[in-house]
Amino acid sequence: MEDRDFFQERKLEAVDRALARLSPLETDCILCPRECRVDRTRGQTGVCQTGSLARVSVGLLHFGEEPVLSGRGLPAGSRGSGTIFFTGCNLKCLFCQNFQLSWLNEGQLLTDGELAALMLELQSQGALNINLVSPTHVILPILRALRPAYRQGLSIPLVYNSNGYDSLEVVEQLRGIVDIYLPDLKYVSSEHSRRYSSAPDYFDKARLALQEMYCQQPDLVLDDREIARQGLIIRHLVLPGAADDSIRVLEWIAENLSTSVGLSLMSQYHPCYKAPAEIQREITREEYHRVMQRALDLGFENLFLQPEPFQPDEHLVPDFRRKQPFRWKL
Ligand code: SF4
Repeated sequence: MEDRDFFQERKLEAVDRALARLSPLETDCILCPRECRVDRTRGQTGVCQTGSLARVSVGLLHFGEEPVLSGRGLPAGSRGSGTIFFTGCNLKCLFCQNFQLSWLNEGQLLTDGELAALMLELQSQGALNINLVSPTHVILPILRALRPAYRQGLSIPLVYNSNGYDSLEVVEQLRGIVDIYLPDLKYVSSEHSRRYSSAPDYFDKARLALQEMYCQQPDLVLDDREIARQGLIIRHLVLPGAADDSIRVLEWIAENLSTSVGLSLMSQYHPCYKAPAEIQREITREEYHRVMQRALDLGFENLFLQPEPFQPDEHLVPDFRRKQPFRWKL
């Protein structure tokens, strides 16, 4: 076990280095591929609708993430991913199931100190990791919060749970800070990424970011409880009518990264918010099985599957206006 002081010293050094490099980008914001070039320190906002401070919807122990993150099966009090849902988003997919946060911007502004306290509180509740959901546009408040958090004893892995639309320059600065990368790889097709996320360059940017994540954390490292300590887990949500593009996503990962990365194939799509007509349905069993079979044929070794597509009345869409946004099957 690494000496705790040394661990925190090493993390603090990496955080300070990243802050020195990234803080200047906020006044002419190019912190993500949107490159809005607004001055967020003066209250201007770009696509993510976010100023200098982070807005948070909720921080909670999450029991529905991949088993290596949530620790399903572990005793109560020592399971759950310490998940912080940030408000705002730099991608804003039309079908987003978290639209209350990504589009409607619902949440509370937190000071950097309050964000640090939330991380420490989740750790004290037994969280297995700190899982930062939609961290891309709030990377600076996160980094600033990590300083007091590490000084006050944060010692669990940090999970960077992004939509994949990250800038290479930012991800390079997260070396030595992020323990587990958990990006989406949503599309290869620029037609899909333009239509659903107004980001025709999604794949061009995401593939560079994911290659850098893989360089930093190539191996999925589990502890003796089968809980992730380090690594890269790529999530892919299968969309209705888009199995061919899903297969291109898998083939790109196999050819350009590795079949030993974590791959989480999600069947839980449910049409939300402003999903266009052609994706106003759940996916079919046949669509999911076709994609799953390709993943198996390609030889992915660390595959996380959702057994069957969900039916309209059993979808997992959270409601962040409720005290408990999720309905988990524990
Ligand atoms: S972080 Fe926000 S303001 Fe900055 S470039 Fe991205 S979307 Fe625009």
